[in-house]
Amino acid sequence: MSRSPFPEELLPGLFRIPVPLPGNPLKELNAYLLRGAQRSVLVDTGFRQSACREALFAGLEALGCLDKPIDVVLTHLHSDHSGLAPEVAGTAGTIYVSRVDRPSLDDPEARRVFWGMAERRFLEEGFPLLSLRHLNDTNPARSMAPPTGGHYESLEDGQLLELGPWRLRCLLMPGHTPGQMCFFLEEHNAILLGDHVLFDITPNITAWPAMPDALGSYLVSLERVRAYGGALPLPGHRGRGDLTARVGQLTAHHQCRLEEAFAAVRDHPGAGAYTLAGYMSWKIRAASWAEFPETQKWFAVGECMSHLDHLAALGRIERRTADGRAAYFARS
Ligand SMILES: [Zn+2]
Repeated sequence: MSRSPFPEELLPGLFRIPVPLPGNPLKELNAYLLRGAQRSVLVDTGFRQSACREALFAGLEALGCLDKPIDVVLTHLHSDHSGLAPEVAGTAGTIYVSRVDRPSLDDPEARRVFWGMAERRFLEEGFPLLSLRHLNDTNPARSMAPPTGGHYESLEDGQLLELGPWRLRCLLMPGHTPGQMCFFLEEHNAILLGDHVLFDITPNITAWPAMPDALGSYLVSLERVRAYGGALPLPGHRGRGDLTARVGQLTAHHQCRLEEAFAAVRDHPGAGAYTLAGYMSWKIRAASWAEFPETQKWFAVGECMSHLDHLAALGRIERRTADGRAAYFARS
């Protein structure tokens, strides 16, 4: 096995630990370690999977943090960020996450209800039941999520979280998940972005049972993060860039996708998101929608739904349901 690279020091006492995500298009998660004399803070962890565990703990050991308590701060609920949180925090550390995303992590009943609602929506949109069931059984979002257990604390928008020498201003940025948070380090003029803004890839915006218009919320959150354009951006995956420029690109990207989704509805009235997604363009190399890999279809349909929900919220299209099936129509 190749040796893990030594964590990169980005600011005095703040390190990036690259955590590989084998077989995942995201390639790498950025875990950030904020070192303190008595205890340290880790922001995001990687999947609950051996490749992630080895790289993360090698990084923590190289930084000399393993013999003191480590508190974990999670930007959002996704398992590539949260999977190892209980292992890192152990009994001495606390896991902090937004109040909104927390139930998906430490309330198994809430998790079950959530997956049930998500599945119902995908079925309504025409996603084939068998492939949905197969995806549910093999979904890494479930198998590599943190186990139940761990001591969690909720964070609120605007709260100042003080952990040793580190002061993190909690900023709720709903969109990528309902409770996605960014953390602003005022003294250092740096912002931990999670998956709110990424530079090498477009953050996935899907539909959420608890959010009637996830893309609408995301676009509002993009505007909110503009105020931190002069800060050092610390994204959840891969490289950094110019935050203000990237916010502009992401906004333009979604405007384009909205027009594409609108055209699909206008040209194929009465179709559901599963069919409509096939009429949108995707970066995945596949000869046709039918040949699209199943997992990628799930992401594509999710993204299509978030655009349809936003178009409906804008009054440009209408969603009707009959006999458990959704159908979309353009408004003239
Ligand atoms: Zn994520």
